[in-house]
Amino acid sequence: MVNDSGELRVPNRLILTPGPSPLDPRVYRALSTPIVGHMDPWFSEVVSDVQTLLRQVFKTANRITLPLSASGSGGIEAAVVNPLEPGDEAIVCVNGVFSERMAVMASRIGAFVHRVECPLGMAVDPDDVRRVGRGRKIRLIGVCHGEASTGVMTSLDDFRRVANELNALLVVDAVATLVGVPLNIDRQGIDLCFSATQKAISGPPGMAPITLSPCMEEVLRARRTPVRSWYFDLTNAMNFWGEERTGQQTPSISIAFALREALRIVLEEGLEASWQRHKQNQLALIAGLEALGLRLFVTSAAERLPTVTSICVPEELEEGRIRLQLREEFGIEIAGGVGSLSGKILRVGLMGFGSQAKHVLLLLAALGKVLRDQGWGLSGGEGIKAALRFCSQTEESTTLVTN
Ligand SMILES: *Cc1c(COP(=O)(O)O)cnc(C)c1O
Repeated sequence: MVNDSGELRVPNRLILTPGPSPLDPRVYRALSTPIVGHMDPWFSEVVSDVQTLLRQVFKTANRITLPLSASGSGGIEAAVVNPLEPGDEAIVCVNGVFSERMAVMASRIGAFVHRVECPLGMAVDPDDVRRVGRGRKIRLIGVCHGEASTGVMTSLDDFRRVANELNALLVVDAVATLVGVPLNIDRQGIDLCFSATQKAISGPPGMAPITLSPCMEEVLRARRTPVRSWYFDLTNAMNFWGEERTGQQTPSISIAFALREALRIVLEEGLEASWQRHKQNQLALIAGLEALGLRLFVTSAAERLPTVTSICVPEELEEGRIRLQLREEFGIEIAGGVGSLSGKILRVGLMGFGSQAKHVLLLLAALGKVLRDQGWGLSGGEGIKAALRFCSQTEESTTLVTN
């Protein structure tokens, strides 16, 4: 395909995966803006805009709030490599692939990591964290707010209480939740939080917004050893994103342009309206999936992550074939399971520009046909009927995004 040296011809896809999300045309326009040098005073203004917008979506006054030039995994790395020093003890709540990644990264620094686990499809119990931490000197507690590998949302407030009892910092992976799910960094007392541009923010992949509380800043200043990673050393990044704009790394300039536009779109709608839209569209999707006779992987409704819905694959069906037909026939991409859930679940992401009622209806119509073609008994139209019923019941509160 590459050998013909032709221009890229990208297939037309509706991406309904847990990231990346589809982009608003305004974001594509910003992305194709000619670049300027990162030391150009004009770019400094863009940088300040992005920081101001990020503080608004994180709901924080934190001085250190910036987008790292890295994917969400770079955010996880920065979140653990900065506060932890070799020999420190940390607790990481592990309930899926991404929280597992945080535990692995923390142990590679040489920290002693206590993993507190629970069965996949559930949220870790804060009481278990309390038990493990009691009598120990725990530097930080790491929690994944939205485990996109399973579709579980963890309620953060109980973890703040436990962190207070243990005198520990609270570090939160909000890659799959920021902008899509209620989150308030200052009010919820989160010491470090990070996200990624390609999830509910609906920007292109490539940057990881991160914010540090004043307390976390103190901890970084009091470090006895240099941060183990040069690239993810936040004191380095701050040199550029701080007042002085010095520093030796070139930020992802084009993605910063796109991020600025994506955040403007979020705030034009309003954060609260965005949270509400993600919730409503997921409920419409769930109504449709259940009417198709499918079961959700996360059984507790309160623990379902509004941005990512995981569906059990019925024994008679093959997960890979369902995704293949959806992609080939309808140009819709959804995700399968990862790790031990590979082949067992399907995951639908309704994030940012992807979270629209019309996408839910289209997916349900397409999925209904695919399931019927592949021998799943029910008539394919039931899903869309149930979702429409749900939408008409909640008409006033459902925001339909149109462009
Ligand atoms: C997607 C995701 C990540 C990883 O982000 P990448 O940009 O793929 O590196 C980390 N945590 C969560 C919760 C995610 O959903």
